[in-house]
Amino acid sequence: MTVRITFLGAAGTVTGSKYLVEGEQVRLLVDAGIFQGKREWRERNWNDPDVDLSTIDATLLTHAHIDHTGILPRYGQLGLQCPIFCSAATAGLARILLPDSGHLQEEEAEWRNRKKNSRHSPALPLYTEKDANTVLQQFRSVPTGSSVEILPGVNAVWQRMGHILGACSITLTLEGKTITFSGDIGRYDIPILRDPQPVTFGDLLLIESTYGDRSHQDTTPQKTLGRVIRETVKRDGMVLIPSFAVGRAQLLLYYIRELKEEGAIPDIPVIIDSPMAANATAIYRDNPQDYDEEALQIKAGGRDPFSSSKIYFTKSTAESKKLNGIVEPMIVISASGMLSGGRILHHLRQRVSSPKNTVLFVGYQPPGGKGDYLLSGGDDLRLFGEHYPVRATIESISGLSAHGDREEMIRWCRESKGTPGRVAVVHGEPDSAKAFSETLQSTFQWNTTVPGYLETIEL
Ligand SMILES: [Zn+2]
Repeated sequence: MTVRITFLGAAGTVTGSKYLVEGEQVRLLVDAGIFQGKREWRERNWNDPDVDLSTIDATLLTHAHIDHTGILPRYGQLGLQCPIFCSAATAGLARILLPDSGHLQEEEAEWRNRKKNSRHSPALPLYTEKDANTVLQQFRSVPTGSSVEILPGVNAVWQRMGHILGACSITLTLEGKTITFSGDIGRYDIPILRDPQPVTFGDLLLIESTYGDRSHQDTTPQKTLGRVIRETVKRDGMVLIPSFAVGRAQLLLYYIRELKEEGAIPDIPVIIDSPMAANATAIYRDNPQDYDEEALQIKAGGRDPFSSSKIYFTKSTAESKKLNGIVEPMIVISASGMLSGGRILHHLRQRVSSPKNTVLFVGYQPPGGKGDYLLSGGDDLRLFGEHYPVRATIESISGLSAHGDREEMIRWCRESKGTPGRVAVVHGEPDSAKAFSETLQSTFQWNTTVPGYLETIEL
């Protein structure tokens, strides 16, 4: 019996992860991500699906990030009726991320209509918040670490990958073939989440390659965070941290609690000015089954790993605006992490021109964006059509990535059992996918390939 795997996304790019698995008896989707970044990819979100969605028997998700789940609301509208299986924490985070994505799509369409900035009239959202809530009803939580029969004769094992809460690899067995989808490979020896768990390889491995050509440099992010906070407090300033709301914000809260408990930083207020970060933190609190030993011990001692003294979550815009009047030292964590919108831009407008303050970047900044401009020494920031002189200190911590680097990905391969019959290197920009493919060949002598968009592998 032949099993065919078709690469409907994350081939030639890092986004839009989705793979079609076709046996003689069943058709499955693994991940259903939205394309982000370059227009040529984003336009594919609007294309007719490459498969008749009503014929899909089940969808399996590795984790909740939008580039792995974000096309589901549209697919639901276009006929995807099947159950959608994922870990409990992934389902919890998807309940936050998918409606938010729908809301943003609606806002963008509205903005285009107002500005008449669209080739389509009227501009329509890719999907709505309501579409997201509808497809969420198809979600089914599965246990991790043990085999689950998702359909008659089709078994899958979700194994934790330490990337974000709930993130897993999936090893799928159907019609005598075994295929592992690495999902996004996380980090070793970082707080909160357990290390990536080894798997047993079979006929095919699909492995990500986001950092396939790079190593993380900053190995002591907590120390850097402590230094930046201390220096800013000495100047009576504010530390402004643009942060992803899911994963990164919780890691920052964890580090800040430790720094406060050690007395390494003064006990200043910490404000999480992002409703999504507040909601995501609640999901992190509710899913201790994903914690590592240290986080479990903190919880067992009756403490909250993400809470320390003087932590405040703002809910309303009015509460957020009140922060403008405060001049005492504090830490503000706000979104979006890449300065592409959200409350962080209003805080920047208020704070970037004072030499007392620090803007601290803790994540990737796309080339040409505002974060990239500040990090490369730009001294005249444009926000909301106005110019703001940059006098704040600009700092960055590079070691907080949720993606393992080349060495961590190789470690996961080495710790896993067996030799995959074939290896498809996916989820990377072309250079890093190619480099990682060569690294896997030279390290393990694996039979690797870098598939293109819509290419098919037969097993
Ligand atoms: Zn991810």
